[in-house]
Order: sequence, then C-alpha cells, then structure tokens
Amino acid sequence: MDNHFDLIAIGGGSGGLAVAEKAAAYGKRVAIVERSKLGGTCVNVGCVPKKIMWYAANLAQDARHANEVGVEVQLDGVDWAKLVQGREGVIGGILDYWSGYVAGEGITLIEGDARFVDAHSIEVGEARYTADHIVIATGGRPVVPPVPGAELGITSDGFFQLREQPEKVCVIGGGYIGVELAGVLRALGSEVSVVALEPKVLETFDPMVSKTVADNMAHDGIELHLPFAVEALERRDDGLAVKAADGRMLSGFDSILWAVGRRPNTDQLNLEAAGIEVEGNGVVPTDAFQNTAVAGIYALGDITGRAPLTPVAIAAGRRLADRLFNDQPERRLDYENIPTVVFAHPPAGAVGLTEAAARASGRKVTVYETDFQPMRYALNRSGPRTAMKLVCVGDEERVVGIHMVGDGVDEMLQGFAVAVKMGATKADFDNTVAIHPVSAEELVTLKEPNPTED
Ligand SMILES: Cc1cc2nc3c(=O)[nH]c(=O)nc-3n(C[C@H](O)[C@H](O)[C@H](O)COP(=O)(O)OP(=O)(O)OC[C@H]3O[C@@H](n4cnc5c(N)ncnc54)[C@H](O)[C@@H]3O)c2cc1C
Repeated sequence: MDNHFDLIAIGGGSGGLAVAEKAAAYGKRVAIVERSKLGGTCVNVGCVPKKIMWYAANLAQDARHANEVGVEVQLDGVDWAKLVQGREGVIGGILDYWSGYVAGEGITLIEGDARFVDAHSIEVGEARYTADHIVIATGGRPVVPPVPGAELGITSDGFFQLREQPEKVCVIGGGYIGVELAGVLRALGSEVSVVALEPKVLETFDPMVSKTVADNMAHDGIELHLPFAVEALERRDDGLAVKAADGRMLSGFDSILWAVGRRPNTDQLNLEAAGIEVEGNGVVPTDAFQNTAVAGIYALGDITGRAPLTPVAIAAGRRLADRLFNDQPERRLDYENIPTVVFAHPPAGAVGLTEAAARASGRKVTVYETDFQPMRYALNRSGPRTAMKLVCVGDEERVVGIHMVGDGVDEMLQGFAVAVKMGATKADFDNTVAIHPVSAEELVTLKEPNPTED
C-alpha cells in the first residue's frame, strides 16, 4: 500500500530528521511530515541564526576592546539588513541541503499538519498514512503569557524577523534564550533591560554561573531588574512599557521580547485518538527508550521535556532507529552528563551536577574553584573575568560537574565532557599536562579545594 511506511516522523526538525535519516539508511520506507520548514527550530529560529548573531555581536565587542589596547578600529554601527541577509543566506543553504538530502535518500516528505486518527494512522489534509512506527518530534513554540498587552511583545521567533535593529529593548526572561538574545542586542549596540520572575538569571545553573553571567551582563551595560513579575505591557507616548505587579514601570522601549519558556507542540496532534495522554504542560511522557505509553508510538526531542537541545534530539532519534531497525534492543540515549552552553558574552557552559545537586546526593563533595582575568584582557584589564568550578565526589574525587564562564568555554567544554562521561577523577585532571597559556589550563591545575561544608 502506497501510504504505508515502516516509520513516519511527525516533525522535520532535529529529532525527526535524525530518526528518519537513520531508518532510511537501514533500508526502511520512511516519511517525514513537516508543516513548516525542514530543519525545525534549530535551523530556522534557534541555534543557527542565534549563533550567527552571536558571532556578529562578538565582532562588535572585539572592536571596542581593540581600541582599548591600541588597535584602532572605527566602529560605525551595525548594518542590520546586511547581517540578516547574510544569516538568511546561510539558512537557505542548510534548507537546500536538507531538501536535497531527504529526496536523495528516498524519504517521502509530506507537507502539512499531522493529526492522529488512531495508534497507527495519521491524517495530513485529506490524506491518510499508516506506519508500523510513528515518532512524535514536533518540538515546541515560545510561550506568551496571557497578560494585558502581551501582543505588543515579540518572541524569539519574532526576533529573527526583525528588519531593523531595535534601539531600546526589554527582554522578559532570564533563562538561556533571554540571556543570549539580550547579550547579542547589547553587544550590537542596543540599550537592553532584562526583567524576570526569578531573582537571578540562569536560575537552574550552578550559582557561580548565574552570578558571573549576571555580573558580566551588568558590566556590559545591560540593566537587570530581578525579580520583576510582569503584569502588563502598554503602549505609551514614549514607546512600549512593561508594568510589574508591584507597580514598577519600565518604559520607552521600541521592542519587548518575551523569552519566558517554550511549550511542546502537542495540542494539534489529536493524541487522544492514539490513546496518548500528555502532561499538563504539554509534554509527552516517555520511558528511557523514547517509548510512549502506546506501543509503536515514540516521542523525542523538545516534546519530551528533557534536555531541550538539538544534539539531544538527534542522538535520541539515531539511537531509536538503531533499536528499531538494527537489532540493538538496548540502544538508547543516556540523559546524564549532557553538556550545555549558554551563548552569553562571554559564554557559559556546564556538564554534570551542580554543587547543590552533588551535595543532595549525600556523597562527600569537594569543590575546586577559580576566578581570574584571562590573558586576552591583560592589556586593557576591562574585559570580563573567567570563572571555573569543578565538583568532585567521593574519596577518589570523581569529577561529576564542571561549570565555566569565560571566553572560549563554549569550545573547551566538549572535550572535558568526554572526561566527565568517562568517570575521570581530579587526579586524572592533575595528571594531564597543561597547555599554556590558555584559560583551559586552569581546569587541570586547580590546587586547593574550597573549605569543606560537610
Ligand atoms: C532561540 C533558540 C536558540 C536555541 N539555541 C540552541 C543552541 O544553541 N544549541 C542547542 O543545542 N539547542 C538550541 N535550541 C534548542 C533547539 O532548537 C531544540 O532543542 C531543537 O530544535 C529540538 O528539536 P526537535 O526535533 O525536538 O524540534 P524542532 O526542531 O522544533 O522541530 C519540530 C518540527 O515539527 C514541526 N511540527 C510541529 N507540529 C507539527 C505537526 N502537527 N505536523 C507536522 N509538523 C509539525 C515544526 O514545524 C518543526 O519543524 C535553541 C532554541 C531556540 C528557540
């Protein structure tokens, strides 16, 4: 039957493409249903365009620092239109690659919105498709809370549609997307305020990371108003305004950006027809093997509410295909020790347990920390500081957490994450000869632990 597949992936983002690609490589008949653009959030309105903006923002910051050390650079502002055009060109190239790839691998691309009809069938428009295995990989979308005037704000999706650089912006939200977009805008020259419900930015990270990132943001001239419970947005004579529940009002913005979280795209899937119950926040519950409660239906990526990152969705998708089609019944993604980076200015990164989580595990905890001015800023001394923290457990001091903020930590963390995943101890770090002079050498030369709190 033409409309029957071995596997249908609903959603052609990071996770859906990964599982489809691998299943097709195993010779299976595969379809992807995508209602928008292949590549999903990451390629179109996430990691890729964000990172391009981050690189541009770094250049602007470097130009300012260059002058401080005597390398004379005239920064005449930002040609936003050129930047956006270049960014869209890069994305266009990736989209061309994916559509060519999907067609070349014989994967059927079904364009439109998928809805379940029953546990083995979906509908897209008028057409019905069936599969032995259906993977839900529909990702999420930015949340806009239902406060008066909420529509005056844009979201991260809207940020990537801006055709002009906003002069004065209020970012609502101190999570990683809020921190990243605030940093980009500030480095490119906008005036930026950040407000959030929480008393600190990056609240889920180790307090060392939250504090250092907040200090760096303030150092760069970002105004932080924390905590600040937004009650309404308004249009006033001097521009847009943000009102707090306690009466505070910030105004004069030409743009307000909601970055208060994302909600899984489950509501239009008619999951009841397949017998799947979602959690209150829209998350599709899955076990360690990406199985939902219904045999033959799986979920992966942001929709599962676990570690919403592109490489996580990809790894889960590839492993699922290995398990289903390559006789690897135990193959699954291990969700422990997933490294993550916040592209702030400078970036922050973490892998493993925070100090608090390690202490909560009841094991003996030893913590090593350092905070220093990297050599990169030796001449101007006005650059951001770098901070690093190793969290170790047990008498053998196994390294279970690494937390860093500073130039280069985004690239540094990947290799150190391998060491953590392999169970390296502090002694293994100490036995590794340092590279000099780089910031990373500090991680293998940490001497005195923090005074014990046990
Ligand atoms: C601003 C921003 C920056 C980010 N930066 C990073 C980063 O630096 N590093 C990182 O690792 N992660 C980053 N992320 C997160 C990353 O983008 C996601 O974790 C990743 O895209 C999740 O992949 P996914 O396959 O679960 O979903 P998605 O990539 O969101 O793909 C889901 C796809 O499903 C489609 N879809 C939804 N419903 C239906 C339906 N009913 N029928 C058909 N199609 C449907 C959507 O159109 C979409 O294309 C960022 C996210 C944002 C928003």
